[in-house]
Amino acid sequence: MTGLPIEFDDPDLLGDSLHFGKYGTVEKIIISSQGKHNRTAFIQVYITYSKPIDAAFAIRALDGIKIKGREITATFGTTKYCTYFLKSIECRNERCFYLHAYDTKNELMDGVKNNMDFLDEKS
Ligand SMILES: [Zn+2]
Repeated sequence: MTGLPIEFDDPDLLGDSLHFGKYGTVEKIIISSQGKHNRTAFIQVYITYSKPIDAAFAIRALDGIKIKGREITATFGTTKYCTYFLKSIECRNERCFYLHAYDTKNELMDGVKNNMDFLDEKS
């Protein structure tokens, strides 16, 4: 998630039920503040939800919205899901190896390693 104004530089604020907590159980928040000394600076935050589907809801809700005139970009850091799929847009990338359906049997997001695991599975 990039483009958040610097005043969001507070894990407690970000994780509460009015912010990212609204979309599911937030497990971890990492804030990378770029240019703390710059008043127009924006921050980049990494949110880990307990369930990937919660992250999917958050991304769907937040990607492309504007906060203080700046467009927010929300994407999966360790995604298994195609970003087009998450936006309900048809994916035209024939070589896209991300998932285009929700993986309900594998609820845990185990990071980048999982992105590759399903390539071996015959669907
Ligand atoms: Zn795709």
